[in-house]
Amino acid sequence: MIAANDPTLRSWVPVAAGSDFPIQNLPFGVFRTAANPEARIATAIGAYVVDLAVLADLGYFDELQLPKDIFRQRWLNPFMALGRHTARGVRNRLSELLRDTQEGVRAHANHFLIPMDQAELLLPIQVGDYTDFYSSLEHATNVGTMFRGKENALMPNWKWLPVGYHGRASSIVVSGTPVRRPHGQYLSQGATQPQFGPSRLLDFELEMAFVLCKENKLGQPIPVSEAEDYIFGLVLFNDWSARDIQKWEYVPLGPFLGKSFASTISPWVVTLDALEPFRVAGPPQEPEPLAYLRCSGAHNFDIHLQVDIQPEGGTPTRVCLSNFKYMYWNMCQQLAHHTINGCNMRVGDLCASGTISGPTPDAYGSMLELTWRGTQPLKLSDGSERKFLLDGDTVIMRGWCTHPQGIRIGFGEAKGQVLPAT
Ligand code: MN
Repeated sequence: MIAANDPTLRSWVPVAAGSDFPIQNLPFGVFRTAANPEARIATAIGAYVVDLAVLADLGYFDELQLPKDIFRQRWLNPFMALGRHTARGVRNRLSELLRDTQEGVRAHANHFLIPMDQAELLLPIQVGDYTDFYSSLEHATNVGTMFRGKENALMPNWKWLPVGYHGRASSIVVSGTPVRRPHGQYLSQGATQPQFGPSRLLDFELEMAFVLCKENKLGQPIPVSEAEDYIFGLVLFNDWSARDIQKWEYVPLGPFLGKSFASTISPWVVTLDALEPFRVAGPPQEPEPLAYLRCSGAHNFDIHLQVDIQPEGGTPTRVCLSNFKYMYWNMCQQLAHHTINGCNMRVGDLCASGTISGPTPDAYGSMLELTWRGTQPLKLSDGSERKFLLDGDTVIMRGWCTHPQGIRIGFGEAKGQVLPAT
């Protein structure tokens, strides 16, 4: 077992029941404060940010012989590039320093422990390339049924390979960043020519994304059995989508401006190490995948996922409860497929899962499915209805794992408010 995952550990830092960040989580992020605008790498515990740059200055990581100023960085990339083994060492060391048997370090707490509400959590990763997969069978079936009918719901390739497209890295933003309703072309019902204007069918997509911490050389595929060495951790991911723009533009090369205006990620990267206790087998794959995609063992993760919509000035309504474990194609298969042609991945690349829909209608991961293309509007707690998102709506995604012993490993939030088109 990874030492930091020990469910019996308790911290001297107060951690409220139900917190996403007990001592068994210890995710990585980047923050700054009004008092100190220099960006630094941190972990989260309870309602606090732990400044790793200060801990390093105090000599608490000396034994790990890390590069100088590795935590005094704007991005996690240089730290992630040290590899999963090093990150595991840092996480284990943090676990030692923060556990309740360790009283010595407590004397310095006022130097490195900062209330999270006083910290600005920054976009943690410098994303080089971003790929979005389409790996939920339920989502692909729902969308296919709506657009092509039940008989042709799944394209012939879907069960043979993890379908994906290359997204836009530059417009990935951190939770809390507002998202402007995009303009674009769309074809109205019965029209023969497109119109131009603000999207009328703005949607969210409930996804998770994994972050790469290791490169493969151009021309050298990552074997499916080694794929997890390349995965640092996961974040929540909202792949905002303008359905009207998407529908008109997507043939034959796939999504473009209907997706590239913004994607929101949560600020804390939860390591694959912290998720280890929550491994589960994926759904059965039939037909059996081709050899390069075959993998044994449990490579899905039991992560509860939730979406709330909060109207401007109102209270949130939960509209979806799904789970990452429903994914048909797992991350190892996605990475093996992505690189089987020799494509090289780089540190900081992001691969999103695709919308994660579950088997029941309350587990659908997009408005498109929840309202069945707008035909069955959602009712919010204030009595208003939604077919798609309105200006002022805030979409809040959350994710967490639950230990049998009651420990919760959470992801925090990926949230964003829709601003009116300019
Ligand atoms: Mn997507």
